[in-house]
Amino acid sequence: MAGVSRLQYTTEARLIRVMCSGRVDLEFVLRAFSNGTDGVFIGGCRLNECNYITHGNYHALNMVLLCKRIMEHIGLNPDRLRIEFMSSAEGILFAEVMSKFGNKMKELGPLGKGEGIDQNELKSKLAEIRKLIPYIKLVKQDKLASRLENPEEYDKLFTKDEIDKLLSEVISYYIDPEKCQACMTCAKRCPVEAILSAKNQVHVIEQEKCIKCGTCFEVCPTKFSAVTKISGAPVPPPLPEEKRTIVRKKKEKGETDKE
Ligand code: SF4
Ligand code: SF4
Repeated sequence: MAGVSRLQYTTEARLIRVMCSGRVDLEFVLRAFSNGTDGVFIGGCRLNECNYITHGNYHALNMVLLCKRIMEHIGLNPDRLRIEFMSSAEGILFAEVMSKFGNKMKELGPLGKGEGIDQNELKSKLAEIRKLIPYIKLVKQDKLASRLENPEEYDKLFTKDEIDKLLSEVISYYIDPEKCQACMTCAKRCPVEAILSAKNQVHVIEQEKCIKCGTCFEVCPTKFSAVTKISGAPVPPPLPEEKRTIVRKKKEKGETDKE
């Protein structure tokens, strides 16, 4: 509507259309910041006026509230991310909000510089957080499905302490080489092929690939219980490849003869 009515608003904005604001993933926002975008604005339909039964605008709102806390955790000003709800007929409102957002970004200055964060440090912090996105979404799935009716509840959905704790006590998964029996169950179920697997070889989790979904922990047979959770401590280094072969005890002679 703003375009059709030839309304003027900030010229620095680049529009990306999506079918629903709920399609805007946490990854998209953090990727935009990783690419040096100074601010991200998300425009969604008015709450409770969603065209889809999914009410994606609530998802977008919750994602933004979470992302703002993550931004605070890494030292970015959370005002660089904003969400507003309006109908497609509200062109004047859109133009006003966009202009205000553009002015706010000018006031804050370039991403990172405005906050006094070294550019390389910021890039590496964002890269670390982006690797944790599946984990964050899994741990916070209940809150991410909330439907907050009252704006006064927004700030309470995720607290700074909660997100600081979440990000400083990230869980890692480790396969104990003394316990692994190479049954391959975990490797078959890992959604991102992060487990180095071979017959009769102790299995090893590639920490760089692991998205911390916890599936390996859940599926490792109880009789082996080889997968452990590690929180707030470094993961032991992987067993060298040449030491991964599992030497199984030979069957007793009597047993062999019966076969
Ligand atoms: S936690 Fe999930 S992603 Fe990581 S190794 Fe286990 S199954 Fe794979
Ligand atoms: S499921 Fe457990 S015992 Fe089986 S390969 Fe994985 S870690 Fe080893």
